Amino acid sequence: MAEYGTQPRMGFFTDTSVCIGCKACEVACKEWNGVPEAGGLDLLGMSYDNTGALGSNTWRHVAFVEQPKPAESTVDLGMPDVGAPGQDDPGVRWLMSSDVCKHCTHAACLDVCPTGSLFRTEFGTVVVQQDICNGCGYCVPACPYGVIEKRESDGRAFKCTLCYDRLGAGMEPACAKACPTDSIQFGELDELRERADERVRTLHDSGVPEARLYGHDPEDGVGGDGAFFLLLDEPEVYGLPPDPVVTTRDLPAMWRRATVAAVGAAAVVVASFLGRRR
Ligand code: SF4
Ligand code: SF4
Repeated sequence: MAEYGTQPRMGFFTDTSVCIGCKACEVACKEWNGVPEAGGLDLLGMSYDNTGALGSNTWRHVAFVEQPKPAESTVDLGMPDVGAPGQDDPGVRWLMSSDVCKHCTHAACLDVCPTGSLFRTEFGTVVVQQDICNGCGYCVPACPYGVIEKRESDGRAFKCTLCYDRLGAGMEPACAKACPTDSIQFGELDELRERADERVRTLHDSGVPEARLYGHDPEDGVGGDGAFFLLLDEPEVYGLPPDPVVTTRDLPAMWRRATVAAVGAAAVVVASFLGRRR
């Protein structure tokens, strides 16, 4: 079992096949965590998305992806259709997905933070302590998902805390609580992984072969995500990297090589000093 101390690791399983794009998760997140508005509420002009991407002021982001219906899909998952009035099957479907910080097993943001502001909680989640963050921004390029960001008006880094304060009080995160379709499920990570495998099997048996999991595999480049997803298309379609790798992966090898080089250089200096004295 994935555990941190005596506490099992907690996380999110987001089943995008039942997301209806209501954005209740985005609103609940903002309200509970006091996250400011992210640059106006206007639509972006390419879909019903008005937040665009995760950032310091958007800790949950619901992607709206409009695409041709796959020919092989034989099951109507209830996704809204678009098209001319009276047209039975416009041949278009919407994919909706509520994205969030992945609370990675190997979290590069945490690895590079020089102040210890980013830390691993007893629930296995990754949280920024705002009173310790000095705004250096090292965590921003380190994140392989482009999640964490510095807030312009403030200078410090912000991201989803998986509602650390609510977890401490035995409550579920605000987004999961608000989701009317249970697209966002919160719980023990091991149990969520089993539930997700079962859901994929059900969808495949029901004629939705495109269903697949993303971020669930402990063998992937970040050691698996604490927040993982069931997708209905390739990750890139939802704006997710197909094969994320922890950006600090090579740091231990680099330090080892730097140490060997430094010891070698010191040995040369000592040898030349001793040689001169003879
Ligand atoms: S997704 Fe990015 S910000 Fe979130 S834990 Fe992983 S590296 Fe850190
Ligand atoms: S609350 Fe649930 S159904 Fe609504 S947008 Fe968020 S994930 Fe989708």
